[in-house]
Amino acid sequence: MKVLVIGAGPAGLVFASQLKQARPQWAIDIVEKSDGQDVLGWGVVLPGRPGQHPANPLSYLDAPEKLNPQFLEDFKLVHHNEPSLMSTGVLLCGVERRGLVHALRDKCRSQGISIRFESPLLEHGELPLADYDLVVLANGVNHKTSHFTEALAPQVDYGRNKYIWYGTSQLFDQMNLVFRTHGKDIFIAHAYKYSDTMSTFVVECSEETYVRARLGEMSDEASAEFVAKVFQAELGGHGLVNQPGLGWRNFMTLSHDRCHDGKLVLLGDALQSGHFSIGHGTTMAVVVAQLLVKALCTEADVPAALRSFEERALPLVQLFRGHADNSRVWFETVDERMHLSSAEFVQSFDARRKSLPPMPEALAQNLRYALQR
Ligand SMILES: Cc1cc2nc3c(=O)[nH]c(=O)nc-3n(C[C@H](O)[C@H](O)[C@H](O)COP(=O)(O)OP(=O)(O)OC[C@H]3O[C@@H](n4cnc5c(N)ncnc54)[C@H](O)[C@@H]3O)c2cc1C
Repeated sequence: MKVLVIGAGPAGLVFASQLKQARPQWAIDIVEKSDGQDVLGWGVVLPGRPGQHPANPLSYLDAPEKLNPQFLEDFKLVHHNEPSLMSTGVLLCGVERRGLVHALRDKCRSQGISIRFESPLLEHGELPLADYDLVVLANGVNHKTSHFTEALAPQVDYGRNKYIWYGTSQLFDQMNLVFRTHGKDIFIAHAYKYSDTMSTFVVECSEETYVRARLGEMSDEASAEFVAKVFQAELGGHGLVNQPGLGWRNFMTLSHDRCHDGKLVLLGDALQSGHFSIGHGTTMAVVVAQLLVKALCTEADVPAALRSFEERALPLVQLFRGHADNSRVWFETVDERMHLSSAEFVQSFDARRKSLPPMPEALAQNLRYALQR
């Protein structure tokens, strides 16, 4: 069996590594668009302690402590400049995205999986289909610009808010969510530490605020300085660091109503991306990768495996999309709730996803199934 994976991000890497472990005799190649050094983004949160939670990709590394993960149990929501402290409900693990991706790539290479960098595949005609039994499209939201097959063209929706992903040396010991009124405008920060020296700091605001504050007309540095002033109470004199390639943008949701076509199958953000306010994208990438490994290891052939995979994966990614969309829309319409008392505001925040079956149970159920091979 020969497998080609397009994209060396968490989805493609966890899939390749887990499949190689289950079927060492199968040949797996990965092609990656970037040069192998750059990884976009600062830190992400993942569920649980490495080694104890199979949806946490650090669980598949030999020495996860080298990545200096940070554990977060508390949640702080600031509204009307009043902090409300709560529990996150689950233990969360903050980690640097770059370190995680590099460690997963090292793990794949140590298992004999080849990774070819600076090798973007974008068109159907570029796919070496005759050489492989299965081609896994794990190219993230970049899948939007790929033309592999009409059947796997994504539905693309853009969020209404503008957002930007900064890093900062200010250390946020809890998951922080800050709603700040600034003149007529509302800015929202999502912040938490992901190493003992750095935190993620994602900021969002409405399109109207973005235009009124002239953020689109400023240099990256001026924009970071402006936002740092808005959140000076939280940043305590620390600045915001901009990463090239991570400017202001609208969140892109990619969705599909199918997972495979012929030999091609989708994984990770390429299959379904979901708003960062629920922080589940990497977790979903891991669980869906495990479902594909399970199907390939238990079904008689590739077509049967892809049918079985789709039956399991589609309801899960649709649930993920429901949670992510509900959350995104709550943030996009927050101006309607800013007048609430802090207690009412927290209640509304908590209720935003309550109409849907909970994600942790759905993830745990699918993982239990996937890991029985
Ligand atoms: C602001 C923000 C905050 C987030 N916070 C969290 C969080 O806290 N927790 C969480 O779990 N998730 C979070 N996410 C989501 C998470 O980053 C993604 O869900 C996750 O990276 C998906 O992994 P992936 O492998 O599918 O895609 P990616 O990580 O995007 O990897 C895709 C890879 O494919 C490569 N590629 C692209 N096109 C091609 C091509 N044509 N040929 C070859 N290679 C190609 C890319 O270079 C990249 O290396 C966040 C996302 C954002 C935007």
